[in-house]
Amino acid sequence: MTKKRKILLLEPNYKNKYPPMGLMKLATYHRILGDDVTFFKGNLQDFVLEQIVSECIQRLEYIESSANWKIDQHIVKNFIQKKDLSLFDDILFAESQNKPLIRECLHYFRNYYITGKYKQEPVYDRVCVTTLFTFYWKITIETILFAKQLVKTPEELKIGGIMASLLSKEIQKETGVKSVKGLLDKPSMLDNDVDIIIDDLPLDYSILDEIEYQYPIRDAYFTFMTKGCKRKCSFCSVPKLEPAYKPIVHTIEKFNTVKSLYGDLPNLILLDNNALASPCFSEIIQEIKEIGFSKGAMYVEPNQLEIAIRNLKDDLNNKAYIRRSYSIIHKLLKRLRGQTAQTYYNILDKYSLLKLETTTKENLLSAYPELERIYEKNRPKTSRLRHVDFNQGLDCRFITEEKMKLISEIPILPLRIAFDNLKLKNKYIKGVELAAKYGIKELSNYLLYNYDDSPDDLYERLKINQDLCEKLGVHIYSFPMKYIPVKGKDAQSRDYTGPKWNRKFIRCIQSVLNVTGGIVAPARTNERGNFFEKAFGRTLKEFRELLYMPETYIVYRKIFEVDLGYTSIWQELFRSLNNEEFEEVRLIIESNDFGDYYQTIKNPKLIRLLSHYSISRKDVDNVEQDYEKLKRKFDPLITLCNTI
Ligand code: SF4
Repeated sequence: MTKKRKILLLEPNYKNKYPPMGLMKLATYHRILGDDVTFFKGNLQDFVLEQIVSECIQRLEYIESSANWKIDQHIVKNFIQKKDLSLFDDILFAESQNKPLIRECLHYFRNYYITGKYKQEPVYDRVCVTTLFTFYWKITIETILFAKQLVKTPEELKIGGIMASLLSKEIQKETGVKSVKGLLDKPSMLDNDVDIIIDDLPLDYSILDEIEYQYPIRDAYFTFMTKGCKRKCSFCSVPKLEPAYKPIVHTIEKFNTVKSLYGDLPNLILLDNNALASPCFSEIIQEIKEIGFSKGAMYVEPNQLEIAIRNLKDDLNNKAYIRRSYSIIHKLLKRLRGQTAQTYYNILDKYSLLKLETTTKENLLSAYPELERIYEKNRPKTSRLRHVDFNQGLDCRFITEEKMKLISEIPILPLRIAFDNLKLKNKYIKGVELAAKYGIKELSNYLLYNYDDSPDDLYERLKINQDLCEKLGVHIYSFPMKYIPVKGKDAQSRDYTGPKWNRKFIRCIQSVLNVTGGIVAPARTNERGNFFEKAFGRTLKEFRELLYMPETYIVYRKIFEVDLGYTSIWQELFRSLNNEEFEEVRLIIESNDFGDYYQTIKNPKLIRLLSHYSISRKDVDNVEQDYEKLKRKFDPLITLCNTI
């Protein structure tokens, strides 16, 4: 492979917590091959526009070198996008001899963009699209369809990742593109003449600085120390994605590469599916310690500017390191005070580093000798504890005293144990007890629901966690995770309801979690009472009632309970239903569709009850905390109905 290829790595514009590891490995792969790599996540139309603007500016700089086109690139963009020429004559080329050429160039690129001519002249030799959860179906399909326009030859559009592996047939039907299924864990999987195993490569962290999107968690080493899983749980996609279990994946070499290229990172996030199943678990812990993650290990941020400048000099990823240097420099500018701040500002001004648009590699390299000393003296140097997180959760069936002791020798935070099934109760409790015994106090445990469990099951598992917190003095954050099928039509959205669940019950759980940010915090009692008991009920009976409570009353608990007093009115009515009456409204409530119950329900008491469900979250948002307005609007419905 001799010719340098243009490679585009795309992640669909969904929200996600972790950076796309697959694309980061592909970035490393293509950089090894000397290719020109671009990563993008965001609005694809903007991406195309930015590319065209940048090409246009290059051309304009050639035509009229006396103008600073970079400073005014937003004006060029406005013209290409909206044909807005209003500022041009005054600012940019009023005096230019090359006015006709400039106009011609601008019109050419506007036409190129507006008519979609760029689609007939794609510039990328290869486009790789990663995919994640199957319920991101729509946005992923849109991204693949868009990507088709950007690649020179259809067979060089590569779709991989979780959804691509699980729904490959469906994707092919919808887009005509055949996915690359599973892991890129064999030689020559993308290029016949290259025997590099992509899955074994270290991640390229630099690509994360090419985009605006900020991953909530990126300040960590992301890696696997095992692959696949020994079990075959029917609700899980791992047996399909990674069918072979690898008990150890050595990581020291990759770790050292990442550290030397991108600088040391504070935390270690392990995305293993079932690390405890490994017979090499003690070796894994040993390796974690060797790479600097023993209990009590501290982290001090390295000189980030020095690393960024070094990588710029080495041409590692100029776009990324220009952006990164700019952001590092400006972060420090905000911290500086007095004369130092002024001196630092003057240097930035001198080298046109005050705006990202005018920040160039050349300016950065020229300014660095003057910035270096101030940066080193004032950069953050506080030390903090490092953490290790087995992020996908540990399998309680493999927990033993010996393994828990090993875990306690690394700075685990939090410890995550999966509690997917009530049948695992005893093993799960034993696991948490062992964690407490070895001083691990912070736990964050996954609770699968909406599969073959019932709402009662979920309540019991949540309650077990609360009770364990009290008994063992630990903090267990419960993470209820809604089951979504891994195959077929149901996998393409988040609408699936399990056999013992219904739309209303699901909404109820989601409404409570909405208030708590998706987690159920450990039992805390304050002047307002016990948080868990307030949110889910003190008893199973109260929880069952909560499942039927209007969603708005759950989300805006205080407003409806205290300010308006509607909750107690609803409760009184609900509790007064006899079996026959309950059966008459049950299905309507469980369907969570209150559009036309008037047509079927004639009993005034039931109509009164159902009227509570007609208050929507929008109604509350619309009154902007003026709850009197809400009262005036709904009192006739809620209270007058009481007189029916
Ligand atoms: S043990 Fe965990 S990773 Fe393994 S198949 Fe079951 S749910 Fe999936």
